[in-house]
Amino acid sequence: MRKKIIAANWKMNMTVNEADSFLDTFLLEVSEENRLDMVIIPPFTAIPRVSERLNKVQNVKVGAQNLSAEKGGAFTGEISASMLRELFVRNVIIGHSERRALYGETDAIVNKKMHTALEASLKPILCVGETLTQRDAGKVEEVLETQLKGSLAGLTAKELHETVIAYEPVWAIGTGRTASPAQAQVAHAFIRKVIEAISDHSTADKIRIQYGGSVKPDNTEALMSQPDIDGALVGGASLDPRAFSEIVKHTCKLLD
Ligand code: PEP
Repeated sequence: MRKKIIAANWKMNMTVNEADSFLDTFLLEVSEENRLDMVIIPPFTAIPRVSERLNKVQNVKVGAQNLSAEKGGAFTGEISASMLRELFVRNVIIGHSERRALYGETDAIVNKKMHTALEASLKPILCVGETLTQRDAGKVEEVLETQLKGSLAGLTAKELHETVIAYEPVWAIGTGRTASPAQAQVAHAFIRKVIEAISDHSTADKIRIQYGGSVKPDNTEALMSQPDIDGALVGGASLDPRAFSEIVKHTCKLLD
């Protein structure tokens, strides 16, 4: 049985003060919840404060939205894996579609970041997903397979166990348009098949695959009840502590 993982990707939102008031509400709402993994992924500037507060509660972890592929040195504006580890960051998003589209991150760069993160004992959340044009052209499987093989190249089975995959159809991110539970399930089952092909059956069975793309409290249950969906990566709805805690609670209902 794979433990579900619900993560909040705050993107470039939330000052330190706003993060504090989010946590005041959210932590009270989920204080009793240990049956799933919860991760708050703030912008870099709010990580120290969020980390300090989450250190006291144990059931919610802190993540980062990106990291440098390099270990250190003359890379102005970059943040290294060891800097994140120093702040007790546990998960790191790698290859989000916004980084692929707006900052030119290729599968090769994503792959280098995966290795850098894992060498530093950070647990990657690797994002993959097709655009609407690619879906309409019948290329969903081809795109997912290329992204997965390129991004995961050279990882051991042990490293894959530390990795979470997030299936995020680009056309569903921030658009209010969600993949139907059936569409998402088909993509997740395919991703698991690719993992089996690059690794082995047991790794494919253990790896957690989150869905991301306009997850809201009212579509959570239908999505999270699919057999190959092991959690959610939530953008917009994670900025509201009540909406995000509802997403957690709807997921927990399925565990009762
Ligand atoms: C995301 O950017 O990872 C995401 C899933 O965003 P949203 O929930 O706003 O679609």
